Amino acid sequence: MSKNLNDSVAVLTGVGPKKVAALNKLGINSIEDLLTAFPFRYDDFATRKLSEISDQEKVALKGTVATEPVLSRFGRQKNRLNFRFLIDHDVIMVSFFNQSYLQSKIELGKNLIVYGKWNHKRQSLAGIKILSQEANTELGGVYRSSKDLKQSQVKKIVEVAYNEYADVIVDVVPQSIMTKYRLLPRKEVIREIHFPTNQKAAKLARRSGTFEEFFLFQARLQYIKENQSINQGKKIEYDLKKVKNFIAQLPFELTTAQKKVVNEICHDLHSKNHMNRLLQGDVGSGKTIVAAIIMYAAVTAGVQAAMMVPTEILAQQHAKKLSELFEPFGVNVALLTSSTVSKVARRRELLRNLNNGVVNIVIGTHALIQPDIVFQNLGLVVTDEQHRFGVGQRQILREKGSTSDVLMMTATPIPRTLALTTYGEMDVSTINELPKGRKAIRTQWLKDNQMMSAFEFIERELRNHAQVYIVSPLIEESEVMDLKNAEEIYKKTSDYFDSRYHVGLLHGRMNSNEKENIMLDFKEHAIDILVSTTVIEVGVDVPNATIMLILDADRFGLAQLHQLRGRVGRGDKQSYCLLVASPKNEYGIARMQVMINTNDGFEIAQKDLELRGQGDILGNKQSGIPDFKLGDPIADLRILQIAKEEAHQVVSAEDFKQKKENEELMKYLNQTLLENSFD
Ligand code: ADP
Ligand code: MG
Repeated sequence: MSKNLNDSVAVLTGVGPKKVAALNKLGINSIEDLLTAFPFRYDDFATRKLSEISDQEKVALKGTVATEPVLSRFGRQKNRLNFRFLIDHDVIMVSFFNQSYLQSKIELGKNLIVYGKWNHKRQSLAGIKILSQEANTELGGVYRSSKDLKQSQVKKIVEVAYNEYADVIVDVVPQSIMTKYRLLPRKEVIREIHFPTNQKAAKLARRSGTFEEFFLFQARLQYIKENQSINQGKKIEYDLKKVKNFIAQLPFELTTAQKKVVNEICHDLHSKNHMNRLLQGDVGSGKTIVAAIIMYAAVTAGVQAAMMVPTEILAQQHAKKLSELFEPFGVNVALLTSSTVSKVARRRELLRNLNNGVVNIVIGTHALIQPDIVFQNLGLVVTDEQHRFGVGQRQILREKGSTSDVLMMTATPIPRTLALTTYGEMDVSTINELPKGRKAIRTQWLKDNQMMSAFEFIERELRNHAQVYIVSPLIEESEVMDLKNAEEIYKKTSDYFDSRYHVGLLHGRMNSNEKENIMLDFKEHAIDILVSTTVIEVGVDVPNATIMLILDADRFGLAQLHQLRGRVGRGDKQSYCLLVASPKNEYGIARMQVMINTNDGFEIAQKDLELRGQGDILGNKQSGIPDFKLGDPIADLRILQIAKEEAHQVVSAEDFKQKKENEELMKYLNQTLLENSFD
């Protein structure tokens, strides 16, 4: 068998089942994984002068052992090894704790390099290790490790892997690009990052590696896009006159931005290319009506449209709204959620009507993507609040979408700077304005002990016929606790407002009928105050509601707070968002301040990213941002942009598949596409 970077780590010399298991736990399965498990930082082992180091710095010092080492034991398990160390003309003290085995290495008069932490006041070094004299490497990589697999072991295994596999590391980026940007060969990049000769070399290698990583990522996105648009085109020839007529009878005029995106999307529908488009627009910017127009257009072309949303409440709301809207136009709208599905007879009838084309538009939760749902002629799939769907659901949808046009809508939880990396394979339309007459929501931050003043404020507004949401604290991963909390708040609120105002309760454990009734009551103002869990987080639209009170607001993410706040400010009345929180640290305080200072979803997402820090967000799969091993999409944005441009040019060139220099890239792309390991 010839060697291949996809080989399991188990083939390596000295790596038995225990180590394999420990590596797997760290997410390392193949040789490729291992070679790209790069150190997250380096210890600097270059020897330094005493005069140039500062207190508490970790340094390597070179000198001569000036006294015999003295071993002192204290307690049962502890010991300390002390000796004086002559560096040029200075004598310092070195102490090693619990490393008595080093005693034999420390001989009077011997030259050593000692790595440790410097204490300036005491003029002493807390020894960490003795470095070998011959080692020419100045930087020691520090690796992710675990209790089963130490730092030094990971490093050793990487070394073995490199030695055994260096020969089969090839360059995937085409030679002309390598030359143009003076990129180092991949083999060298991997060696220099793991075992750098010096700071500068390591930095250069990282730059090359980052370019390569971004280039391949973008090439993949572009390749998928090309394949989709070539293969699965479907022309949706809508009736322009009917669509115009529909728009004309809407109760409001579309904003300029809405008109623009409607045009962009209609253009896609009409073209024979497969549409894969993202519609982004901040909360309240009016995405639903855009979806309605597009779906209506599809129906006039004689195809069916499906809209998938993340919650049952939202599905019900959309289905109701669209049924009313389409009623005069003879369009048949159906609702399909898991509770519809549970009623056998109704489900059967619905499936039949989807299958024979009686239903033109279906709105539903993920219940929509069950395999037994067969459409007569599905031409358009819309997802609302696209970021809320899990990776798996998006995957299935993508497959369903392979025969129909796809429009994904989101309120952009992902910052502008990153949209380019995550949505690379999609076209993007943006609604960049809110409907006319909207007043900026006023946000206030109250401490936990100011609840009473919040209630007083609410009472004043209620007298002016306002409606209020109160969102109960979020208990991660515990619906039961969520419910308990919501019930408690509900009781408190009902007690306070007594019989003067109607208080309702909404939570995820209610059945679909109960939810629908509560929402209906709220919409029709039979309820003044709606106490709810986060089930109302996305999409819910009751324009008369003007106050959003969020309890324990610091438990929510910024994107989530912004979404919740977006439930108010949907009409022309002044709206308020009250955040109740007593954050314990600076980070929490900073987050509250962001919410007070801006209403702009893009800006909030950007701030969120900055506050959380890269490490965190990149590790956070849910955020939808891909996990890069070397590159940092924010810090390395320039490289990302260049890599994107080059990748697009290479992949979309006419002779892409014929060119010899693209051979490895083609292999790589076909392999990753097969694995379908995209998200
Ligand atoms: P989102 O983009 O958050 O999904 P919605 O589609 O729910 O926003 O729209 C928010 C509210 O604004 C709805 O009540 C909707 O009817 C209203 N709306 C949408 N477009 C316009 C417009 N052009 N003029 C006035 N109101 C609009
Ligand atoms: Mg919406």
